[in-house]
Amino acid sequence: MTKQGEICPICGEGHLDHRVEKNEVEYNGHSAQLDCHFSVCDSCGSEQASPIQIRNNKRAMMAFKKQVDGILTGAELKALRQRMGINQSEAAAIFGGGPVAFSKYESDDVMQSEAMDKLLRVAGEFPDVLSSLAQKAGIDILGQSQAAVLSSDPAKYVRFELPIIIETEAPDLKRPKLRLVHSSEPTMRPVSDEWVAVSSQRYASC
Ligand SMILES: [Zn+2]
Repeated sequence: MTKQGEICPICGEGHLDHRVEKNEVEYNGHSAQLDCHFSVCDSCGSEQASPIQIRNNKRAMMAFKKQVDGILTGAELKALRQRMGINQSEAAAIFGGGPVAFSKYESDDVMQSEAMDKLLRVAGEFPDVLSSLAQKAGIDILGQSQAAVLSSDPAKYVRFELPIIIETEAPDLKRPKLRLVHSSEPTMRPVSDEWVAVSSQRYASC
């Protein structure tokens, strides 16, 4: 943001006053009112935008385009990555895009490709996909994701449960019901209203 009181670079006398106005924008048949940041000189009256103001305006427009295109916005992508328990550079190593890709996606400087967007959604939905990609990238997400699971609100991690239930519907055999709770990384299952991390066991009796 341009600080109020900065000297106007055009007249060299007045001071710049930061303003935010709603600006009507259109993209692919959709319109929205976005915040437009700029400054006005209190002496010569010229309107101008600093590089930071221009960047903020561009980011707001990019977030709007992502919404229209059905692509995760920067804020949504960041929330998804955080639920995965990985930082930006780990995300880049796991999903590709280059070292600063996720910084640019999350700040709405760049729109991720449709393919990247779909991959992220799938990895967010299926922990096996995430752990397989992480393994291929040589990233150990087990320790962190387990720590995150145990220290955070369990409700946030519902997506990470593996609800693959294998039940034997054969009462005549009196077999115990088996439930797949783990394949390759810790996951959770509800036990008496509490969530527990289950590790290293492939099957557990219900
Ligand atoms: Zn001026």
